[in-house]
Amino acid sequence: MGNHDNDRVVVIGAGVAGLTAAATAARAGRPVVLLEGHEAGGRARTDQRSGFSFNQGPHALYRGGPAWRTLRDLGLHLRGHRPPLRGMRGVRAGQVVPVGGRQVAAVVAKLTGARPSAWAGRSTREWVDSLGFGREAVETAEMMVRVATYVADLDRLPADLALRQGRQGLVHGVSYLDGGWGTLVEGLAGAATRAGATLRRHTEARSITGGPADWHVVTAEGETLHATAVVVAAGGPAAARKLLPVDPHWGELGAPVTAACLDLGLRGPGPKVVFGLDVPWYLSRHCPPGDLAPEGSALAHVLRYGARDARADRAELVDLARMAGVRDEHIVEDRFLAHMVVTHVLPSPERGLAGRPPVVVPGPGGLFVAGDWVGDRGWLADAAVASGRSAGLLAAEFRATLQGDDPVRVA
Ligand SMILES: Cc1cc2nc3c(=O)[nH]c(=O)nc-3n(C[C@H](O)[C@H](O)[C@H](O)COP(=O)(O)OP(=O)(O)OC[C@H]3O[C@@H](n4cnc5c(N)ncnc54)[C@H](O)[C@@H]3O)c2cc1C
Repeated sequence: MGNHDNDRVVVIGAGVAGLTAAATAARAGRPVVLLEGHEAGGRARTDQRSGFSFNQGPHALYRGGPAWRTLRDLGLHLRGHRPPLRGMRGVRAGQVVPVGGRQVAAVVAKLTGARPSAWAGRSTREWVDSLGFGREAVETAEMMVRVATYVADLDRLPADLALRQGRQGLVHGVSYLDGGWGTLVEGLAGAATRAGATLRRHTEARSITGGPADWHVVTAEGETLHATAVVVAAGGPAAARKLLPVDPHWGELGAPVTAACLDLGLRGPGPKVVFGLDVPWYLSRHCPPGDLAPEGSALAHVLRYGARDARADRAELVDLARMAGVRDEHIVEDRFLAHMVVTHVLPSPERGLAGRPPVVVPGPGGLFVAGDWVGDRGWLADAAVASGRSAGLLAAEFRATLQGDDPVRVA
């Protein structure tokens, strides 16, 4: 193995987390190889269909959050638009109804007034119950928490997480990115390659063997890449466990947060925003404004928080689109995604974000994980970017320490 290999950082997975890790480690001066089994982007990919740019379900970037700041530091200046919330409507008892301004104001006041750290260890249900609201205001609070977190089961959602996420959305707002999240992926890939990282698409990593001074990442083609440090950013904990050569001792992690999505490319102006009040539903027009759809067309994302039976979920989402005013003749393109993992781990209310695994894999040294289920900072893509950045920095700093003359071999 040459000196160059001895210095190398291999990153597995070119989603938002892996791309951030690769860009960070490369900018810190280390040779980086980034392996991606498919195309880059993972769940942040944007697919082109008849001139419509479909994200994988609705995606909004939290302005001013960890991802926003790190992307800026990496030189990305993303353009986007705020959601068309004026005139927002809701669904209650099977009817589309105006969302009460008084109720929204009451929830906003409570959300912005609460101290998240005071709610550590408790569930969001306990927080909502503590408000002493009537039924309609409770439903409004539940709706706003769902929209901010993608979690429908408030008994299992840490209250401090919901309060931080809700406040972040209310104070700084979110952005629907022009051109879709594919622009974010391209920007990150550009930042990584400009800093010297090599991105190898369609190259799946199969295993990690070797030892702390010299990890061997073996690809599906049987090639072996030597590395001092390896960052596994392959999606979720199951994918990471499969690749890691050691038991990371993470124990039981929380269940994934899932959703069913209907992505619609529409003729005409499209509906605006309709959120479920007594049902876990979401519909929002992501364009216009922005450039996700051809001139004179619109793009709307419809979602059910918590995926169940594909057929029943699809029928619900089609119903919601109709209730919002979408007619069959408006639909140019539609895509149903039956079971999407929005984020891989919902930690328990007792443990909160501290219940997610750390970036450093305990054990032999030089192994790191990153993704939206790792580390105690951020939620969704914010967690993917925050853990990707930490993993990239730690991997770049890591220098193997030989144990005597004989490096410890673990596989
Ligand atoms: C419907 C939906 C809505 C969402 N909305 C939002 C939102 O509004 N705001 C927000 O911040 N976040 C949102 N998210 C979450 C966000 O998309 C994810 O948190 C983020 O994209 C995860 O990035 P990641 O890099 O951790 O994982 P992934 O995107 O899953 O990337 C993992 C990558 O690793 C690759 N890979 C896996 N195994 C291997 C292997 N063995 N070898 C090589 N490559 C491998 C995969 O092909 C993939 O490209 C949403 C997600 C969904 C599904």
